[in-house]
Amino acid sequence: MRLSELKTGETATVVKVLGYGGFRRRIIEMGFVRGQQVTVVLDAPLKDPIEYHIMGYDISLRRKEAEMVVVMTREEAAKLSFDQSQILADEDIVERAVQCSSNRISVGLVGNPNSGKTSLFNTLAGRSEHVGNYSGVTVDAKRGELRYKGYTIELTDLPGTYALAAYSPEELFVRRHIVENTPDIILNTVVASNIERNLYLTTELIDISPTMVIALNMYDELERSGAKFDYEALSEMIGVPMVPVVAPTGRGIEELLETIIAVYEGRDRRVRHIHIGYGAVIEENLEALNADIRNHRSDTPTLFPPRYLALKLIEGDKEVASLLGSSPHFERWQRMAVEARETIEEALGEDIETAVASQKYGFISGALRETYEAVERKRNTLGDHLDAIVTHRIWGFPIFFALMWFMFYCTFTLGAYPQEWIGAGVDMLYEAVRGAMSEGALRDMLTDGVISGVGSVLVFLPNIMILYLFISFLEDSGYLARAAFIMDKVMHRMGVHGKSFIPLVMGFGCNVPAIMACRTIECRTSRIITIMVTPFMSCSARLPIYIMVVGTLFAEHAGTILFLLYIVGIAIAVITARLMRRFMFREQEAPFVMELSPYRLPTAKTTVRHMWSKCAQYLKKMGGLILIASIVVWLLSYYPRPEYSDNDPEAPTYEMSYMGYIGKWCQPMFEPMDLGWQASVAIMSGIPAKEIVVSTMNVLYAQPGDEAPADDEHLSPSISRRIAESMSISSAVAFLLFSLLYLPCIATIMAIGSELNWRWAVGSALYNTAVAWVVAYVAFHITQLFV
Ligand code: GDP
Ligand code: MG
Repeated sequence: MRLSELKTGETATVVKVLGYGGFRRRIIEMGFVRGQQVTVVLDAPLKDPIEYHIMGYDISLRRKEAEMVVVMTREEAAKLSFDQSQILADEDIVERAVQCSSNRISVGLVGNPNSGKTSLFNTLAGRSEHVGNYSGVTVDAKRGELRYKGYTIELTDLPGTYALAAYSPEELFVRRHIVENTPDIILNTVVASNIERNLYLTTELIDISPTMVIALNMYDELERSGAKFDYEALSEMIGVPMVPVVAPTGRGIEELLETIIAVYEGRDRRVRHIHIGYGAVIEENLEALNADIRNHRSDTPTLFPPRYLALKLIEGDKEVASLLGSSPHFERWQRMAVEARETIEEALGEDIETAVASQKYGFISGALRETYEAVERKRNTLGDHLDAIVTHRIWGFPIFFALMWFMFYCTFTLGAYPQEWIGAGVDMLYEAVRGAMSEGALRDMLTDGVISGVGSVLVFLPNIMILYLFISFLEDSGYLARAAFIMDKVMHRMGVHGKSFIPLVMGFGCNVPAIMACRTIECRTSRIITIMVTPFMSCSARLPIYIMVVGTLFAEHAGTILFLLYIVGIAIAVITARLMRRFMFREQEAPFVMELSPYRLPTAKTTVRHMWSKCAQYLKKMGGLILIASIVVWLLSYYPRPEYSDNDPEAPTYEMSYMGYIGKWCQPMFEPMDLGWQASVAIMSGIPAKEIVVSTMNVLYAQPGDEAPADDEHLSPSISRRIAESMSISSAVAFLLFSLLYLPCIATIMAIGSELNWRWAVGSALYNTAVAWVVAYVAFHITQLFV
């Protein structure tokens, strides 16, 4: 019976704990392990939690939790006692009965219709149930038993289903059976020769996280077809052991039984609970509800994981809604679910069930792409044909690099036009404010501080929008997942997983959302490594610096130099990742499936929305951090300010300001690269956000009476000239590399802190800056040899 059925004062012995993962572990850690005696201290009707005494402690459990603990009382044991003539002490009876019952393994046979469940059932249980293709049979379960190596295996042959969506009576029946009868093991029959379609049910089962073994049935047919299937690799990836069998002949049955027992005893190391990724849109909208349900997990039927409950609620599953209906939080959850569904359906332009199903097929096709090789691949859809090209062993890479090149090319060339217009607008505003306000510190702060500072960053908004437009389109269309797929091997060389690839590409836009996107990487060590190397992906905020310096000093080779900078960033990321894997995280990580969700042509609306949500982060940064930083930089460079008049030739220069002071104070750090105090001030000012480097340079190199910037350029010619004069080629290279690599910005450091912890955040800031210095120093000396 269940622990919750025990009355006050009664004692029983624990047989096992049902449920999943963390919940189950917690109960076991409290002492609810096989053979322990548990006594009910207080169980008033309607009282929740109930108090128990176990292992010398009083512990209270929620009623729902107590329902998950299977116990055996003396009376039950006596009834089960087979040998009546033998007189045994009470404890011995219970002990023996518990022993016997823990040697009983209940196995539920689940699979598609005609996957060979009944054949397997007959072979295992030695029965002869009707086998064959029949329909219209009552929804029913047949039971059988077999003994194997001291274990009694109770088999239940369940009706065939394609899914567990609770649409058909069969589906509902199977799901209810799993919830109510809690079989110890789900034996999932999968037709090896029709694997893709058969694995769909498997993905549904993975979601509800039972302890599962897969019988790869009809393996004879797979062999006959000549297809190659690395089922061992697939087992590792999905965390479910797979055993090839041929049900009617009994081939593989012995290994199947061994596997069932090993999994039951928790000895099979392949068993692992994985999450099937549902793509950015669904995941984003699933998380809040998932977290809410997880926080109130003791009010929920704990057999299903919260993630599953959340997803099903969003899908509008009536059964799950009624399961959760008794919770005091249900109304809120229902509201959240409806809201999430609407957001998802609007963003994806299709209904949630279709979206989830196609993600599941994406998971399957990703899993099979790496492990299954049919003799002749059926290519029937456009997507299959596209996949054959873009994930091709050889062609995949040039296509990927061409796309990346095209993306950056458009970012810079197309972006140049609106950039000009915004620049002109900022200048007009600058002049207008200057003209309208009377002379004084306030006017200078507004114009030289706020308008110049924010304006010099605002001009890059078009570039960033274009970059994000590409990234969003590639992500939404499904191409980025393919790119991650072909990059998987390369990423493994780096010591991370293919899934790390997408966040890294996003890092070219902005490191902050990229670091947040690392949440999709299941493996902890891969996630840490990816987060830590993301800042080396040159984000769009660094672009203005490159454009300024490269445009001034290397105008002829601008494209090449820009490209090389990105490559250096990537190279440092690779080296860092390898070092981290080598010295910090030695353990080998489990392989994961990479979802290859079907291609879709994203609608303009969804792409623009996606792009906008990313741009909004950029604008927010500008409205806050950059605005404040611009004012602070201006203040530091304006004061101290002795009395003087505008025409005074002895007017104070920035060199005499606080900023000049700070810059000179840290200049020794940049001395070895022959960088002046202006560069060192600019670098310091870039700590809040790297865009500020440009506006600082602008302010620092400006002199009273400069001509206004020409229309087609962002910097006024005299400022460009002054920059060019103040830096040698080698120092400019050092400056560029330092800007690329040193700590990205406060927002990124804060993101690292919140995703990992502050120690990683501080570590990242220090490490990046140290690397930046070393690389800049080395590059300075190397270029000096050539120039
Ligand atoms: P169920 O609907 O899942 O119970 O599937 P059945 O057990 O009724 O099997 C459906 C059909 O597949 C029957 O004709 C079986 O003889 C056949 N079958 C089952 N297992 C195998 C197998 O391993 N190899 C081959 N070649 N045929 C099988
Ligand atoms: Mg059958």
